[in-house]
Formats: sequence, structure tokens, C-alpha cells
Amino acid sequence: MPDCPKCHQAVETQALECPYCRTPLKAHGHPGMTLYQATGKEPLCLTCLYHEDDTCTFPKRPFAMDCTLYCDRTRPSTLTKPGYSPGFQIQVWLKRNLTWIILAALVLISLIIALLQ
Ligand code: SF4
Ligand SMILES: [Zn+2]
Repeated sequence: MPDCPKCHQAVETQALECPYCRTPLKAHGHPGMTLYQATGKEPLCLTCLYHEDDTCTFPKRPFAMDCTLYCDRTRPSTLTKPGYSPGFQIQVWLKRNLTWIILAALVLISLIIALLQ
């Protein structure tokens, strides 16, 4: 049974809120959507993998005190998520740098054409 992040009482896995302190544990009233909560004064983003690799686009970042997508960067199991395979990271890098890649290709093609004449 998991613990409540605020009062640390054991709560049911499917509980929508803590029966002791009423802290919301699930987002949008859905038992399958865990709402992670900061336990201290520091925002969750400081220990989140998506903040570290700069892939998070949530408006709450970097000051989220609760979040449905939080992924603890200190837990090794979170690093094996399928979304963070090397192939996915290359895709993200290509997407972010597409403009520069196209520009560099155009410059290279122009140079080759100029040198061949
Ligand atoms: S997923 Fe949530 S906790 Fe992680 S960086 Fe984004 S807003 Fe912060
Ligand atoms: Zn509680």
C-alpha cells in the first residue's frame, strides 16, 4: 500500500484522495491517473527526469508542486521507459534542430555546387 505524500499514512492504491488529510492523490478523479505531490517546499521539477532532459512543456514547469507526469530521475527503473530509448532521444534532437540541419545542408550543397564550377 502506498503512503500519502503529506501525512504519510498508508492509503489504498486506488484512493482518489487521502482519507486522513484529504490530499488529492489522483488527477481528474480518475483512479488510474496518479497525481504526484511535492513532499517539501521544493517543486517536483527539480528531481524530474523530464526537467533534466528539457523535454517537459508543461506550463507549471519548473515550479510544479503537483504533476501527473512526474518521473523521478533518481529511480533507475524510470530510465528504462520506452519513450527514452536512444532512438527517441535522437528523434527529439532532430526535431529541435531541424532548422539548423536544413540550413547546414543548403550551405553544404551551395559550396559543392560553387566548387564544381
Ligand atoms: S513533468 Fe511535471 S514535474 Fe516533470 S518537469 Fe514537467 S511539470 Fe515538472
Ligand atoms: Zn494524507
